[in-house]
Amino acid sequence: MAKKEQTPKIYFLDVTNRDGVQTAKLGLSKLEKTMINIYLNEVGVFQSEFGFPTTRHEARYLEANLELVKMGVLKPIRLEGWIRAIVEDVKTAFKFVPNIKHLNLSISTSEQMLKGKFRGKKTGDDIIKEMTNAVDAAKAMGAESIGVNAEDGSRTELGFLVKFGLAAKEHGAARLRYCDTLGYDNPFTIYETMKALAENVVMPLEVHCHGDLGMAVANSLAGAKGSVDGGQDVYINTTVNGIGERAGNADLVASVLAVNKSKSFAKNYQLGNPIKLTVAAKIAEFASYAFDVPIPLNQPGVGANAFAHASGIHADGVLKDPENYELYSYKELGRGKPKFVETGREIISGQYSGVAGFRHLMGKMNVSFASRDEAADILELVRYANVQSHKPLVEDELLFIAKYPHIAQKVLTQTPLVLETV
Ligand SMILES: [Zn+2]
Repeated sequence: MAKKEQTPKIYFLDVTNRDGVQTAKLGLSKLEKTMINIYLNEVGVFQSEFGFPTTRHEARYLEANLELVKMGVLKPIRLEGWIRAIVEDVKTAFKFVPNIKHLNLSISTSEQMLKGKFRGKKTGDDIIKEMTNAVDAAKAMGAESIGVNAEDGSRTELGFLVKFGLAAKEHGAARLRYCDTLGYDNPFTIYETMKALAENVVMPLEVHCHGDLGMAVANSLAGAKGSVDGGQDVYINTTVNGIGERAGNADLVASVLAVNKSKSFAKNYQLGNPIKLTVAAKIAEFASYAFDVPIPLNQPGVGANAFAHASGIHADGVLKDPENYELYSYKELGRGKPKFVETGREIISGQYSGVAGFRHLMGKMNVSFASRDEAADILELVRYANVQSHKPLVEDELLFIAKYPHIAQKVLTQTPLVLETV
């Protein structure tokens, strides 16, 4: 048996800014996406799939966030863009976002998709060829790391997945993402598949789960175990509050809790880098506000009822010793601080705000401006941010704009193409 050099580790890779915003009826402004990256960095998430580099209206936001990386504001998090695994997308990505360094290339691999989506025009070998061509192109254009996504992986025959993964590896991909795109797996099947992939492809894996059968977090945990047992590092894909297509993705906070707190797991499986769970409440609340989707009452860790006790026996028990009826403490999740809610006069930042009100508002956050002109410039950015998000900015957004006005300006700038045909 080959000597094991190091125990494989578990990392988190959040896809809120890609899968989350792809969700029907939901979206985030570019500033909100930026704030999500900042909070994810604070949490200790290894990588944020921060958007679509082939989409023109994302380009400035993506470039501005890559500048934040250079400035050390977004550090150590890695920002990676999602594209289709075709050469054309690679070229477009580097054209629109020249500083992009990390990419995940996605292509459907299942029989169903070959027949139903590609209408039998492509064979499995064609898919592999397209993917490897795209990987080659990305490498040639300067990508530092490339992940390859097997979309609909859970409905793909294992032998083909292995072949697909080995081809990706041979061409220099760093990771293979196993996508349970339809939430079809269960913890037993995904464990076996991930273990087999780890053993036969022998490269770090990503596990990407959806909640169509209510098992996204359980499947992520089981898939991660499979990868580590098979000898490979694993990157659990999550979204904040589980927001994602249809029934959603594996929730970030719940997935971290599952790894850290579920029976005997943390004893045997290690995280690749420390996770600061105390940011949980803040990021969950921000995502809820930004997406305009309330946090369910019973959401693990961050729901309003996650630490509420009403029945006599439980209340008595938890008061005697919290561990009687709580698996973890609310303090670990950054809860329990009193919240300041304005009940009197309120000055709000909006798209039609004036300088005096804005200076008053910022003054409450201990931000002062050198001159009226400076305040007016920052306010101008705040107005544009408000136009895009349609809601008053939260304190962290206002502070961000005041601190990094030039980055904020790039994030907020949208210039549609000149129309030539109409
Ligand atoms: Zn997905």
